[in-house]
Formats: sequence, structure tokens, C-alpha cells
Amino acid sequence: MGEARRRKAERAGVPAATAPAAPAAAGSEASAPAIVPGKSCGSCTTCCTVMGVPALKKRPWDPCPHVTPGLGCGIYAERPTGCRTFICGWLLDPSMGPDLKPENCHVVFDQKDEQNIFATCDANYPDAWRAPNVLAFMHRLARALGLTRKVILMEKGRTWFVNEDAIVPTDAG
Ligand code: SF4
Ligand code: SF4
Repeated sequence: MGEARRRKAERAGVPAATAPAAPAAAGSEASAPAIVPGKSCGSCTTCCTVMGVPALKKRPWDPCPHVTPGLGCGIYAERPTGCRTFICGWLLDPSMGPDLKPENCHVVFDQKDEQNIFATCDANYPDAWRAPNVLAFMHRLARALGLTRKVILMEKGRTWFVNEDAIVPTDAG
């Protein structure tokens, strides 16, 4: 996303994944978290599809019509506040390597509130969360969060709680 990489990095609202880190609306107006030096959105546009943007009536997992290949956001100057403020967990978490960048692993981690961290799968890669590196990271995250906070895994139409050593459907008995 070239220049838009930096632009996307300006979207805020997602604390780090490791420090104990929906799809949901992109971003909130929380205090601006610090992006890890050397990380940027680059060519990634994953959150532009995975996340919902209420101001555009864009639902989670629907591609944003303003994604412009090779350019990034086609309405950058007028992009909604949620887009301006969203930053995914990968940008914020120094422990997440290139393999966990959303354009590579197809899962966007974000923290929408203090309680929960969401791992949202790109609908075009519904099994992406099953990759060993993604599974290992989610379990590590769950261990770091402890019992009172949750890692919530979302695939289009399905949701799970991720525990330290298990992944449990949210509708399980
Ligand atoms: S998913 Fe993360 S790295 Fe990718 S464009 Fe969005 S904010 Fe940037
Ligand atoms: S308007 Fe669309 S393309 Fe632009 S930043 Fe928001 S989601 Fe991405």
C-alpha cells in the first residue's frame, strides 16, 4: 500500500498483541499507541477488507471499494475517522515477526477494548488461523492475558475463544 502504508499506520486504536492485546469497527479514539520502529503497513491492505467501517456502511469482510491497487486508500484525505485511527496489533507488537503481518498470515489482531483481543481471519483465507505460527501466537497471547481477558478468534460466520491450550467455539455448551 505504498504511501498508504504510512497512512494506514496513522489509523489508530489497537494496542499491542503481546502486552496483553474484533472484527469490529476499525479503530477507536484511544490514546495513540506507539508503532514499533521499522514496521509499517507497506503493501498490506488486509484490514481494509477484514474490518468494518460503519461510516462507509462497509461490513466486516466486505472489501472496501476505495482500496486502490498499488496506491492504497483512494480517498485518503477524506478517509473516515475509524480508518485514521486504526492500527493493528502487528504494528504495535515487537514480538510479532514478518510472518504474522496480516498480509502474510491473513489474520488481523486487534484490541478493541481492555478486555479482549480479536484475531480476525481474512474471509478469503478461512483456514489461515490454523497455521502453526498463528496458532502458537494465539495460545501464547492467551497465556499472557490470563483468565480474565480473552483472545477471540473470528472467521466469517464462526467465533471461538482461544485458551492457552485449546480453541473452543463460543457457542459450545
Ligand atoms: S492490517 Fe495492519 S499492517 Fe495491514 S494495512 Fe491494516 S494496519 Fe496496516
Ligand atoms: S476508506 Fe477503505 S481503503 Fe481507505 S483506509 Fe478506509 S477501509 Fe481502507
